[in-house]
Order: sequence, then structure tokens, then C-alpha cells
Amino acid sequence: ITIGEALARAAHQWGDREALVIAHQNVRWTWGDLLQRSDALAAGLLSLGLEPGDRVGIWAPNCAEWTLMQFATARAGLILVNINPAYRSSELAYALNKVSCKALVLAPALKTSNYIEILQSLAPELGTCQPGELQAQALPHLRWAVRLGEAKTAGMLKFDELPTRAGPGHREQLASIGPRLAPTDPINIQFTSGTTGFPKGATLTHRNILNNGFFVGEAIRLTPEDRICIPVPLYHCFGMVMGNLACVTHGCAMVYPSEAFDPAAVLQVVQAERCTALYGVPTMFIAALDHPQFAATDLSSLRTGIMAGSPCPIEVMKRVQTQMNMREVTIAYGMTETSPVSTQSAVDDPVDRRVSTVGRVQPHLEVRIVDGDNRPVPRGVVGELCTRGYSVMQGYWDDAEKTREAIDPEGWMHTGDLATMDAEGYVNIVGRLKDMVIRGGENVYPREIEEFYYRHPKIQDVQVVGVPDPRFGEVLCACVVLKPGEKATVQELQDFARGQIAHYKVPAYIEFVETFPMTITGKIQKFVLREAMEKKLG
Ligand code: ATP
Ligand code: MG
Repeated sequence: ITIGEALARAAHQWGDREALVIAHQNVRWTWGDLLQRSDALAAGLLSLGLEPGDRVGIWAPNCAEWTLMQFATARAGLILVNINPAYRSSELAYALNKVSCKALVLAPALKTSNYIEILQSLAPELGTCQPGELQAQALPHLRWAVRLGEAKTAGMLKFDELPTRAGPGHREQLASIGPRLAPTDPINIQFTSGTTGFPKGATLTHRNILNNGFFVGEAIRLTPEDRICIPVPLYHCFGMVMGNLACVTHGCAMVYPSEAFDPAAVLQVVQAERCTALYGVPTMFIAALDHPQFAATDLSSLRTGIMAGSPCPIEVMKRVQTQMNMREVTIAYGMTETSPVSTQSAVDDPVDRRVSTVGRVQPHLEVRIVDGDNRPVPRGVVGELCTRGYSVMQGYWDDAEKTREAIDPEGWMHTGDLATMDAEGYVNIVGRLKDMVIRGGENVYPREIEEFYYRHPKIQDVQVVGVPDPRFGEVLCACVVLKPGEKATVQELQDFARGQIAHYKVPAYIEFVETFPMTITGKIQKFVLREAMEKKLG
């Protein structure tokens, strides 16, 4: 079925149950409300002259309107384009032009950025044109800018006015579109996080992401009694697929604690709304666990949840399980290009497996680990993880060459992640292919050395990268953030490793830094760090 049909089914089966709860926005909508509001908005979007297949961008932090846009575009067959809230003008222009967006819904000014000013800097024409008549040189495809919030702005429509623009003709048009949509139609373009370079736009179909959301929900055994606290960004697949689409297929409530991640809001909302599940990347769980309010918060309603997005330290998983009462917490592994989840632990997996691996392959998908010649390696041997099945994207939007590099002729998506699989099928992510360091012919996985240094009492965080070396080709450089108030010498940290790990894995350089370059999804951009170290040491 399509995502629009999934929403209609949810409204039919669970019409009076809560679907969306955002206390700070005063939103408490049932599945029935959500369907009705989505259709009103969908008709409003059609009144702009948009047609099925047209691209519409949403550039906003987590809010009710984001989710309305997700379901309204799905009902109308428009392709939603997720724009990262952290983008600035050049990235915005790149994303909008890459997929030729005709309309953009944008948040007003936020604490961190003024979206309207950024858009106006690219499209000064906005100040003088009528809504719908935008023709900006820098954004040749964009006709409509629609702003969230109250104030009127020249050249822009107000989001709340969209439903009222629609007439009976638009509602009829909407009713005729639903039956014409196929599960294999593209419905969403998501840009990757940009952890390893420039973000790429993945084209995803109804089938890709709806099935993925469904199986993610199955893995944590969601029922209509569940209420999921979703502090992860909606513009990323973690929020919009693993969150929203797991909920629409299982009838549970989507609960958003705040616009952007705030650990205090997470704790408060889990307690107040009696959430049964919590999602997050590892850094979010760490922030909640270490928050001053943590001890005083009642988390007894929690049962399950998902940690995903980057390597999940075993220590953190153990704390989440015991101290946050998330007995059935799972780890998921995936990427934007695979909708996202490929492997996930099961709630009844043995505890040690559940906290130390990324679980096993999801139903109806295949995962294999191959060597450089695309041949499967024996169990336990490191290779590149590949995924095949319903969740693999259609391709990168308008980029046949990059698509060919990523998906081989047999349909395997090459993830660029290095992994092992044990005899029972549990997968371990070892690191990224791009981050692997080859020192004098020996393959070194930075993650192994990072896990080693995490045990050092003075070290708060550590990232290992390769830097060029005339003798060995590459050598290791450990970038270290010390705990507040601590001091350490290079010698001391090298001595810590000597005799404990193979000599070629002892970092040739130790650099003390304050922070790491991060993406907004909370991932450390190693390529930026590597370039900085190359410059400094090269
Ligand atoms: P880009 O492709 O633009 O460089 P990105 O790969 O970080 O950015 P995403 O699609 O958001 O963009 O992230 C997918 C990647 O995140 C995976 O390829 C993997 O490296 C990492 N990842 C996701 N989940 C896990 C996990 N549970 N454990 C380890 N790594 C993970
Ligand atoms: Mg990637």
C-alpha cells in the first residue's frame, strides 16, 4: 500500500486514539484528526498548481507542521524533500536546485538561524513578487515560498492559509490522485548526513520507507498502547521513518519533546506523557543519563527504544537498559539509502548480543559481507556490508553515475561500512571503509583504537584518523578531548597503548583538541578532522 493509504487505515482502525502529541505546541491530535488535516493541507498544496511527482521542500525543525507535510504530500503524491535545518544559503540552494523544488515550506526565524533572511539572500525577488510568481536567478525552479507562523512576509504565503485556498475542485482532484499512486512511486528525497563528504539526495519510494517503518515497529513489538518519544530530527530517516512511519503502521502515538534536541525536555515529556519507547543517537542518551534532572525523573513507563545512527558504546547501552528502565532497548543499523534500517536487534535477543552487536538482518531483506572483489567473505572476517531488498533506494536523484557506484547490477547496495557477521547472523560494524587506515600494508580500523582509548580515565572523547607518511604511506593520529581539568602528555598516552595493542596500532601522533567537527545529526565528520590534521602535520 501507499503511505496515504496507511494513514487512511490508521484513521479507520484507531481513529479516536492519539496520533501526535506536542505539548509545547498545544497539539494533541488523533489519527482521525491527522487524516482530516493532512487532506485539507494536501488540497491546499494542489491549489498551488502542484502535481503528483513535483518536489516540495520542508525546511523546519521538528514540529506538527513537519508531520502534516509528510502525510499531506504522501496523500497528494508530491515528493517531499527533507531540508536539513542546519543548512545555510549555499547548501539550501544546492538542495533545492538539485531536485528542482517548486515549493518550499520554511520555519520563521529560530534561535540559531533566520530562515527567511537566508532565503531572501538567495532570492531578493521575494520582497517584490506576488506569492507563486517567484523567479529568482539563484533558485530557477522555486515558485512558492510558504512560511510557518503568524506574521505575513512579502512574496510568501502563510502555511495556515493553504487549506482555505482549496476549493471543491482541488478536493476532487485529491480524491482522484490516491487510487493512481503506486507503492513503487518515489515519495521522498532525503539527503544523507554529510559525515563523509557532500550530502547525496536519496530517492525513496512508498514501499521503501513504509515497509521499513513497519518492520522497525515489529522489531520493538509496538502496539496501539505504545507512545514513542521522538527527539531525533524528522528531516532524517530516524525521525520520519523509524518514528512516524512505525507509528502510522502500528497505531501508536508520536510524541515530540522539542524542536531541537534538549535532554531536559526529553526527560520531562517521557514522564508527563508516560512514553513507552524512546529513540536517540548515542550522544542523546548520554546527555539524558548525565542530566541533573535524571535522578528525579520517573521513567518507569519506558519499555523499549532504539539507539542508532553511529557506533553505540556498550557501556551506554548497559546504562540505558538498567538505569532508564528500557529492558527491551534495541540497536539498529542502517543508512539513508536503505530507508534506513538493515539490521536490528530483537527485544528477546540475549542481553550481551543486544548491546554489543547491531542485531540481525530485518525480515525480507538480505545482508552480506564482501571483499574488494565483491565476493562474500567467511563468517567473522571483515568486509564491506551490502544490503539488498525492498528497502534499497531507487537511486540518487538525477545522478545515474553515483547510483551505479552504490548499487551493483545484482541490486546490492554497497554501504561503505566495514562489518563482520558471526555464525548466527549477528552483525558487528567495525568502521567505515573511508575511515580505514592502511599503515605500511596493515589495515587498521580506527574504531578499535578509539574503543581502547575510551578506557583511559583522563579521556572524554577520542577520534583516530590516518595522516600521510613518507615511510608507511599512512600513520595514525589520535585526536583527544580530555575530561575537564585533566592534563596529559603525548608520551603518556602513547605509553598507555604500548604493549596493550599491536605496535603498528599505537598512534604516531596524539593531538589535543577541544571539540570535533559534527553534523547536525550528531555525527563526527572524520573527513574534516582528517583534513585539519593533514594540514597541521603534513
Ligand atoms: P554521508 O553518507 O553523507 O557521508 P552518513 O553516511 O553519516 O553521511 P546517514 O545515512 O545518516 O549519513 O548515516 C548512515 C551511516 O551511519 C552508516 O553508513 C553507518 O556508517 C552509520 N551508522 C548507522 N547506524 C549505526 C550503528 N548502529 N552503528 C554504527 N554505525 C552506524
Ligand atoms: Mg553514508
